[in-house]
Amino acid sequence: MSEKKLNVVVWNEYRHERLEEACRNIYPDGIHGLIKSFLEADDASLNVRLAALDDPDQGLPDEVLSETDVLLWWGHMAHHEVDDGLVERIRQRVYMGKMGLIVLHSGHHSKVFKQVVGTNGNLSWGRDQNEIMWNLLPAHPIAAGIPDHFNLFEELYCEPFYVPQPDELVFGGWFEDGFIFRAGLCYYRGAGKVFYFQPGHEFCRSYYNPYIQRIICNAVKWAAPNDIGYPIENGCPCIQYKLSDKFEQ
Ligand code: ZN
Repeated sequence: MSEKKLNVVVWNEYRHERLEEACRNIYPDGIHGLIKSFLEADDASLNVRLAALDDPDQGLPDEVLSETDVLLWWGHMAHHEVDDGLVERIRQRVYMGKMGLIVLHSGHHSKVFKQVVGTNGNLSWGRDQNEIMWNLLPAHPIAAGIPDHFNLFEELYCEPFYVPQPDELVFGGWFEDGFIFRAGLCYYRGAGKVFYFQPGHEFCRSYYNPYIQRIICNAVKWAAPNDIGYPIENGCPCIQYKLSDKFEQ
């Protein structure tokens, strides 16, 4: 592992906290503010910054995006306002192996998630209720330190979740009304990594849960770009030499 500091951006639509008192009471510094605080508490070497939809350049001007190693994404009511050009720059950065992506809760319907993973992001949902989060892949780095199950109070998200079959299914949610949901999904896209994680409804307190915090901290480390040992070209290079010539010398 190189000792380079990881540049992490926590992007939040940041509308519910400003428009709805019940959300603001839970997350007075914004959902992104709380996530930043527990990431920094876990690893002081992380370089964490905040970004929001209403910031200039929607929080991700090129000079910020081009330095970002891991992008966390929380959005809900304003997915349609996110600039398509920005979404494409994020997608390319993930595919080129330069940035990992962590999509949280209602981000399942964000342009970023849909474009990067390749899905309409549709699922079923319902009332807030008890959830048991099951650890399905304890050997996975994102599951480090997490017990076989833990309890949450969350908005119901349930199957069918119309996503491509995940490359790794790390967590599964069971809800008290009997429904289940693939809650923690890993995707490899191009040379990059994507983690989707279901908890994080704006009126629930899941981001205060120590296991949720541990999972998100783990996910940042997992999603960080590999030190890829060859240059990745953005295109389809034509091969005009014989690699086998090397054997004939
Ligand atoms: Zn929600």
